[in-house]
Amino acid sequence: MRPTLPIAVVSLLASVASAQGTPQQNDVDGSLLIRNVRLFDGERVTPTTSVLVMNGRITRVAPTISAPARTPVVDGSGKTLLPGLIDSHTHTWGTALRDAAALGVTTVLDMFTEPTTAADFRKLDGTPAGRETADFRSAGVLVTAPKGHGTEYGMAIPTITSPGEARAFVDARIAEGSDYIKIVYDDGHTYGIKFATIDKPTMKAVVDAAHARQKLAVVHIGDLAGARDAIDVGANGLVHLFVDSMPDASFARLVAARKAFVIPTLSVLESVSWGEGGRAVAKDPKLAPYIPAANVQTLEQTFPKRSSNPPRELAFAMETVRQLRAAGVPILAGTDAPNPGTAHGASMHRELELLVKAGLTPVEALRAATSVPARTFSLTDRGRIAPGLRADLVLVNGDPTADILATRDITGVWKRGVEIRRDAYREEVAKTAAQTASGTFPVPSGSESGEVSDFDAGQPTVKFGSGWFVTTDQLAGGKSVAAIKIVSGGANGTPGALEIAGTLDAGLPFGWSGVMFAAGQTAMAPVNLSSKKELRFFAKAEEGRPYAIMMFTRSKGQMPAIQRFTASGDWKEVVMPIASFAGTDAHDLMGIAFVASGTPGPFRLVIDDVRLR
Ligand SMILES: [Zn+2]
Repeated sequence: MRPTLPIAVVSLLASVASAQGTPQQNDVDGSLLIRNVRLFDGERVTPTTSVLVMNGRITRVAPTISAPARTPVVDGSGKTLLPGLIDSHTHTWGTALRDAAALGVTTVLDMFTEPTTAADFRKLDGTPAGRETADFRSAGVLVTAPKGHGTEYGMAIPTITSPGEARAFVDARIAEGSDYIKIVYDDGHTYGIKFATIDKPTMKAVVDAAHARQKLAVVHIGDLAGARDAIDVGANGLVHLFVDSMPDASFARLVAARKAFVIPTLSVLESVSWGEGGRAVAKDPKLAPYIPAANVQTLEQTFPKRSSNPPRELAFAMETVRQLRAAGVPILAGTDAPNPGTAHGASMHRELELLVKAGLTPVEALRAATSVPARTFSLTDRGRIAPGLRADLVLVNGDPTADILATRDITGVWKRGVEIRRDAYREEVAKTAAQTASGTFPVPSGSESGEVSDFDAGQPTVKFGSGWFVTTDQLAGGKSVAAIKIVSGGANGTPGALEIAGTLDAGLPFGWSGVMFAAGQTAMAPVNLSSKKELRFFAKAEEGRPYAIMMFTRSKGQMPAIQRFTASGDWKEVVMPIASFAGTDAHDLMGIAFVASGTPGPFRLVIDDVRLR
């Protein structure tokens, strides 16, 4: 029997229904009603209510709402509804946006990636291709000195040395699409590395130039002194805290007085301080089914244990968060994924846990991942659950406003009212894990001809696999550096080739420096290339010095099989049987690295027409 509704309620429902229409059927903007749910709306908690979403937008929040025709209804009893989480510090490529969305992060604020990749990611939201991916904003290329932090990843990036260049430099970033300006002010000493850095007047000029263009200026710092300088020149926010020293209360007072915000990135500082947080995340039974094997590998790493003075204590950053909170400074949750010890999506839940350990209440930690970053970065259409806003939503079992670990018990994620297909994602993760366990790996699509790269299109593109990445012994605590770029004048009169230039440092007995071809869909994901018998490529180099190919296979773990080759001033084809790499048949190939090894010093190697036959 249907209950009889009072006339006023009936007419109200009718007007709501006609204003909203009936749900459209598409994959971009969805509709649903979530009933009887505890609501954290981005600011505060309502014990029981209902939320109606029509065509991608939240339209009503009220204790009782009737479902319009053809609108799916979700029972929220025993559950809590949160705004989609915002990770305020990531670096984004490959599958990052999908990994993030599967674990409730529906918006990522990237703090340095390659600008054409960023442009592609920005276009995804609201398209069928962006159905499963987090929405994206990015600083694009960061602002750093020649040989500064940010130049060590091998991507050739513009750099800056003086205040006079700031205007043009910032304008060039904005022309590339940068949503905000990220500055590096860090000489690396906290981490036992030597980087060049811009000076304080240059930092100030860049901050001023960003503000003249109505862009936020945020700063990567490595220590307390750098943090003070950044706030002093008027930066809007810090994208890290520091682990070198314990501040006194004057630091938090300074940050508060200048109305700056802070993204502490405790997750990555924990890894910098050699903590085990990443491993704990990878092992969490609530998260693990949604963490791809490649991301598990990253989570299980920490930063290298280089000698360092000052010490690195996560406790310093935790205490600083406590002081900043007490001073009323806005705190934003960011992970710095995918640095060692972190992963897209998964580490957001660790960051929330660490913020609570640092003294935020669970509600404050949830604000740091929702309404606070939305307000700070002027994302006015999200970060809260209120009529008119995007229906980016996370539904979890239990009550994360009382126990922050409950954010991990996700039962549903919606972006623009469309449910992320977490079951399909989980099945893919399980399949890849099973392949990894059994040693049977997929043949990469596009690998039939065996051609990897001809470097003729102006970019280091690949016919299969995930691309070319700089690899150096910094992974093992060394200090070698390398950078790659496309140069003209390839082998056999072709237009382009890949130059790998750098310095092999003498610090490690088995150091290396060069470039790696990652054969799988993500870095170090194994693939089956057992149909190929030879590696062939052209090489040339000005210095007469030894080079080597390092072949990484799953069965050999971290230990590559190595074959040496020499290169001279003229192009020469190098042919190596795959079996010559410790007898491998490439059924579990992860990557092939082209490196300088053996003799320390500078090098410049050019390769072209890389293929497996
Ligand atoms: Zn970062």
